[in-house]
Amino acid sequence: MEDRGIWFKGSIVPVADAKINVLSPTSQFGLNVFEGIRCYWNEEQQQLYAFRLQEHFDRLLNSCKLIGFSCPYALGQLREYFLETIRFNSYRQDVAVRMTLFIDGEGSWNSVAPVEMFIAPIAKSRTDVTNLKGLSACVSSWDRIGDNCLPPRIKAGANYINGRYGHLEARRNGYDVPIFLASNGKVSEGAGACLFIVRNGQLITPSLTSSVLESITRNTILDLALEMNLRVCEREVDRTELYIADEVFLCGSAAEVTPITSIDRVPVGQGLPGELTVKMLDLYLDVVSNKSPQHGGWLTKVY
Ligand code: PMP
Repeated sequence: MEDRGIWFKGSIVPVADAKINVLSPTSQFGLNVFEGIRCYWNEEQQQLYAFRLQEHFDRLLNSCKLIGFSCPYALGQLREYFLETIRFNSYRQDVAVRMTLFIDGEGSWNSVAPVEMFIAPIAKSRTDVTNLKGLSACVSSWDRIGDNCLPPRIKAGANYINGRYGHLEARRNGYDVPIFLASNGKVSEGAGACLFIVRNGQLITPSLTSSVLESITRNTILDLALEMNLRVCEREVDRTELYIADEVFLCGSAAEVTPITSIDRVPVGQGLPGELTVKMLDLYLDVVSNKSPQHGGWLTKVY
């Protein structure tokens, strides 16, 4: 285990000391909401940049509201504790930060308190663009969870069990990742990432009512695409469009921009990472590490 300090229930403690009750609802039922936030190190500027903090905190608070417990911290405190935790660990490299609000104590799946929080940074490098291979995907036989059963708009721990089923099935059958369809048969998203297809130069992504998480990276890519004068469209996407797309990629805070090079063994385009996909990944990595000054508004300096 990496030797690091974790913000846990009000103070920073060694990771080995951040322990919870096995009977807590978060432990028993996955009763928690969380964010995965990336920070990128810029060597020239000797600075670490957190990407789109405000949007992550907004989504975290929406998740609290929807799952039915209240966040004990104001926005300013979330921000302060987040920065304090990274600074405590003196990171000078890329990191991924798990920020989780959970139901502690000895309750049940219907408990609404006590709400506690942890903030756990983990060293994680960005995608190596010089060694970009792309992933094989399959259309999962499992449906994506839906708004009227287990809303994917909430970033809740329990939702990831759906992703787990799809992922394990994909790996068992020799694929890298699953692509989920929603219960109406339309394309939804990946197990932990949203999805874009490129057709005739247009970027298309399932709408926010397609059983997807309201992804911050998806939103970033839509903005960047418009700046690149590309045509973009948020709409329902058919399964068959996956097989005839020129390019397909996943996106997310963890996935960044990940090319999909085959779906159900059908090559996507030439079966290599697509040109636009690679261009988008390059731009994305510049933006998140403050090498693209006009996007500084999305970044928070850690030091
Ligand atoms: N969909 C799911 C199911 C996810 O878990 C994630 C990762 N948070 C995403 C999409 C991408 O969201 P974001 O760009 O905000 O990281």
